[in-house]
Amino acid sequence: MEMQVFTVENIPLIKEGDDIASVICERSTIEDNDIIVIASTIVAKAEGRMFILEDIIPDEKAMSIADKHGLDARFVQAVLDRSKEVLVDYPIFLVETHNGHVCIKAGIDDSNVDTGYLADLPSNPDESAGKIGSAIEHDTGKKVSVILTDTNGRAFKIGQTGIAIGVYKIPPIKNWKGQKDLFGNTLEITEEAIADEIAGAANLLMGEGDGGYPVAIVRGLKLRSENASIQEMYRSNREDIIKKGLRCLGKV
Ligand code: GDP
Ligand code: MN
Ligand code: MN
Repeated sequence: MEMQVFTVENIPLIKEGDDIASVICERSTIEDNDIIVIASTIVAKAEGRMFILEDIIPDEKAMSIADKHGLDARFVQAVLDRSKEVLVDYPIFLVETHNGHVCIKAGIDDSNVDTGYLADLPSNPDESAGKIGSAIEHDTGKKVSVILTDTNGRAFKIGQTGIAIGVYKIPPIKNWKGQKDLFGNTLEITEEAIADEIAGAANLLMGEGDGGYPVAIVRGLKLRSENASIQEMYRSNREDIIKKGLRCLGKV
């Protein structure tokens, strides 16, 4: 078996209004079933989701969390505004975004953006992936999938990895239930997080610093499917025992 992962070369610094699909199509030869993996930072830039702290007025909750961390209370307010729940406020500031993604500081990022600015995650990453994916399909006539990524920590291990925050035409989960192992036993629980695995592979080439590689293409996998949403990866509140446990820790 074989799959290829390669970067799209010579992508410029992305600015508000840039057409990410064209930027990619002008610099690559896309094939059917390619999976286009895109760092959310450039999508945020193109969508104009950069902001400054200047006009933000923090409330009491923001000031209290900011005090504990030594953070700017306006930044904490920006995180709260993008969150439907604070899961842990200290010593890590872990929230669930309105879109259902659990991450530190709502994924607001100050790396690889203009000094003084912050980059938000796209507010609806599936929709952003869908717009870029369908524009690429329109431009090239090829059938592709798209994964938007961000860099995230994991709960039980040191080290961050690329993970999927939005998908277009690729199921984020591969369900192995009902399939057989090598000894004929039926698999009962395995659900493989393929969108995160692909995001991790692409992130190996993207890196986290000044490489300038926000897009990688994964070729050789046949995973395209019509309907897909990142929401398939998020546990419901009822099922999520980790969240229930975190709520018991107490917060502001
Ligand atoms: P995130 O994981 O979405 O938060 O993005 P990172 O800040 O980790 O950046 C991922 C990759 O994209 C790195 O190689 C960065 O150098 C690159 N990158 C970020 N913004 C731009 C941009 O506007 N243009 C180019 N060419 N590369 C960028
Ligand atoms: Mn990020
Ligand atoms: Mn990153």
